[in-house]
Amino acid sequence: MQSGQLTSEVFGFWLHPKSQMGLSAAAPLWGAPGLLLTIALHLALSLSPAQAWAPVHRDYCVLGAGPAGLQMAYFLQRAGRDYMVFERAPGPGSFFMRYPRHRKLISINKRYTGKTNAEFNLRHDWNSLLSHDPRLLFRHYSDAYYPDASDMVRYLSDFAERLGLQVLYNTTIAHVTLNKDRGAWNGHYFILTDHRGQAYQCR
Ligand SMILES: Cc1cc2nc3c(=O)[nH]c(=O)nc-3n(C[C@H](O)[C@H](O)[C@H](O)COP(=O)(O)OP(=O)(O)OC[C@H]3O[C@@H](n4cnc5c(N)ncnc54)[C@H](O)[C@@H]3O)c2cc1C
Repeated sequence: MQSGQLTSEVFGFWLHPKSQMGLSAAAPLWGAPGLLLTIALHLALSLSPAQAWAPVHRDYCVLGAGPAGLQMAYFLQRAGRDYMVFERAPGPGSFFMRYPRHRKLISINKRYTGKTNAEFNLRHDWNSLLSHDPRLLFRHYSDAYYPDASDMVRYLSDFAERLGLQVLYNTTIAHVTLNKDRGAWNGHYFILTDHRGQAYQCR
């Protein structure tokens, strides 16, 4: 059997006789390595991505490393929970990398309130997230009353890094399903599948 004919059978499609002739004529180029590559490609393409990797379990899955996702991650981490944040961008706060276009935040950074009460001051600081680390107050990132959006990106990046939050960057969640499962405490798991086909099973 010509290797060209075998190739068309492996793929399960019909080739126009002319193109088969072309393949036969090119047979010396296909040889054993070409055939092995073809079979490997066929197997890789026929396996759906979700089948390719077993799901990774995380008790808590957080979608997005914006301010909300990072704040959630902080409290999950402090509570010693098993969690993971998924973020499609290469870093946190991707919204503020692009918006607002004019680059001035409308959330105020009022550094001088005339008071020493931390709770009172926090109410006048609209950009800080909550944490136990006083270095992670937005006042240390900008003097401006209406700060630049890139200072927010820098702030969120430090927040995630200094606190050691578990964020998987460059990971787009492409698909979310709810799977019924008696093993789960509430009768179901969420299955998050990323763009590479890796599935995450989450409570
Ligand atoms: C024009 C404009 C100006 C604004 N100006 C201000 C301002 O000055 N100050 C202020 O406090 N707020 C401002 N906001 C509001 C601001 O957007 C929110 O305060 C803030 O971004 C909300 O945070 P979040 O974490 O909920 O969402 P986001 O910041 O939107 O974060 C969501 C994250 O999820 C990621 N994500 C989304 N889908 C997926 C997926 N499928 N897989 C993986 N990752 C994913 C995104 O990449 C993103 O990083 C403004 C909003 C707009 C529209």
